[in-house]
Amino acid sequence: MKQPKCKNCKQQFTKTQPLQVACSYSCAIELAKPIAKKVIEKKEREKKAKLKQSLKTITDYRKDARYWFQRWIRIRDLGTGCISCGVLLTDIRDYHAGHMYQANNYPQLLFNEHAVNGQCIFCNKHKSGNEHEYRKGIVNRYGIEVLFSLEKLADDKTLRTLNKDYYIDVANDYKKRCKELEK
Ligand SMILES: [Zn+2]
Ligand SMILES: [Zn+2]
Repeated sequence: MKQPKCKNCKQQFTKTQPLQVACSYSCAIELAKPIAKKVIEKKEREKKAKLKQSLKTITDYRKDARYWFQRWIRIRDLGTGCISCGVLLTDIRDYHAGHMYQANNYPQLLFNEHAVNGQCIFCNKHKSGNEHEYRKGIVNRYGIEVLFSLEKLADDKTLRTLNKDYYIDVANDYKKRCKELEK
């Protein structure tokens, strides 16, 4: 019977156990090292991820929630026109989720699916929301009643801050909905 070669030092050796792949104890240790290293690295990565999670501030949670909500809006509006100027939105990297009401001043409308729509970068950035045309876009797309209800919500100043749990829920919910749309 042909003698097997040690997987570590490549020397031929005589098997004393059926599954033996190394000639000696020290070669067996050498072979196990990369596996042990991988296990340690994985543990380190998990530890870091946990730490990062525990250091998250409310601003981070808000950012996550906005990211997933706005991504969902962009996916939803792919192939429609910019809410303000009507230019066709064909690539989700090329347009924004534009808020009809400034995100910082109207927390009650931050995650409202009618108040946030696909908007071309020109309207969103250079015409700072193109608000007048935006209002017309809302009427055209959803009807005048929706515009009125958004205005009513905007006037309601009772809700000023959203809490961490709310942001977490929004992020999880829209992340899931993004994945569903992208299937
Ligand atoms: Zn060996
Ligand atoms: Zn536009």
